[in-house]
Amino acid sequence: MKKVDEFYIFDAIHERFVPAWYELSFRKKLTEGDIRCDAPVFVLRIYRKIIDTLFKKTAELARLDVWMPLRSTFLFERVPRRKDEGMFHEIVIPLPQVVFETNNSCLTCGGGGKDTDIGAMCRMCDGTGHVLEYRWDDARILCHRLEILLSALRHIDCCVSGTAPQLFTVKIFFGQGRPLGSWMLGGDVTPAFAGWLSSLPVRENIKEATTAMIVAYNYIVGAHMKEDDSGFRTWAEKNGGFYIQCPGNACNIYPSRVRADFQSLAAGNYEGYEWECHNVDSPLQQLTLLAGLAALHDLARKAAHDD
Ligand SMILES: [Zn+2]
Repeated sequence: MKKVDEFYIFDAIHERFVPAWYELSFRKKLTEGDIRCDAPVFVLRIYRKIIDTLFKKTAELARLDVWMPLRSTFLFERVPRRKDEGMFHEIVIPLPQVVFETNNSCLTCGGGGKDTDIGAMCRMCDGTGHVLEYRWDDARILCHRLEILLSALRHIDCCVSGTAPQLFTVKIFFGQGRPLGSWMLGGDVTPAFAGWLSSLPVRENIKEATTAMIVAYNYIVGAHMKEDDSGFRTWAEKNGGFYIQCPGNACNIYPSRVRADFQSLAAGNYEGYEWECHNVDSPLQQLTLLAGLAALHDLARKAAHDD
């Protein structure tokens, strides 16, 4: 691929190649170099030249934030930053856990783990026999920080250069204190990503991305609330679209609009688009869908590398 020199971010991100200024990647766990993490992680790779501007911008956004309990927290202060990785700076973001077993016996099943009325596993304690406690703070804090960081990354004004294209952008919304469905996420897909998606079989499960979501979801809820794998779906739609679903009430992400005139696609001249979500009710769903999308990112990069 030819080297592309300076490009302004958002210089027609839906219409043409723009060099990557950030990437969102997913790992089931991380055992690279000096960083070991047993939790699944997002790896956010940020174009080095924009780091200073970015952190200044995120500090401004954090100051403007109105969600009081998080106001004083600094962005990702406890997250290890990886050493320099060429043109990119990497931030490792471990997923949080929200469901914990307490020492108290479950009142519904008396600690036996079985619901004798229906002769099945007790749904209140997920068969553990213990009262389960939900601690959402870490997940909320992570989503909140991602909202600030990804928002700053989406709107940063800077020239970038490089050969790998930006694949998509993400905006996520911190839904705390708002009605169900407020943990929204959306963003942009670039022509490069749409082109790769269009090369995949239509509506066939993309195993790596679906598995990434199952791993992320099951880690966040611990050994509890484990879902039937059928609630997770990832596939490419025709003409460069995509569909990602996780357990919930029709909880999914998909293109807002794919151009109706696909003749240009036939010529390999792909167009990007905006993407959005439906019924994302919790940080659990928000992070799970993001894991699916990040895994698609990794597949697309791998495909380009293998070419
Ligand atoms: Zn129980």
